[in-house]
Amino acid sequence: MKPSHIEHIGIAVENLQDAIKYYEEVLGLTCYAVEEVADQKVKTAFFKVGEVKIELLESTSPDGPIGKFIEKKGAGIHHIAFAVADVNEALVAVQEKGVQLIDKAGRKGAEGLNIGFLHPKSTFGVLTELCDNKNS
Ligand code: ZN
Repeated sequence: MKPSHIEHIGIAVENLQDAIKYYEEVLGLTCYAVEEVADQKVKTAFFKVGEVKIELLESTSPDGPIGKFIEKKGAGIHHIAFAVADVNEALVAVQEKGVQLIDKAGRKGAEGLNIGFLHPKSTFGVLTELCDNKNS
């Protein structure tokens, strides 16, 4: 497995509208999509910076993964997503190297990407997402 680039950086925020305002009015970026991912209990907003995207994540429920993250660690960088050719193949390859997986197989994430998460215990504390866009 070799990622082609960083697909996006996921940032947990307490209030999506406030955060969008910062990224647009202070950093001068443009929010091009807002999407709710119901099974992740999250509302997302996307920005492009060159080839890399910023994914803002606001929890829609205190017991969702982002709600729990903010409760434990506060708002901030949540995960880094690497673009790979095939998520399922990449997950198998990293598991063979002893990495603990959160997702045993790819599933559908925001923007129609196939995604899979690696456990931060195996990745030096960084929640790591692999994604491909084969189905988009
Ligand atoms: Zn992500």
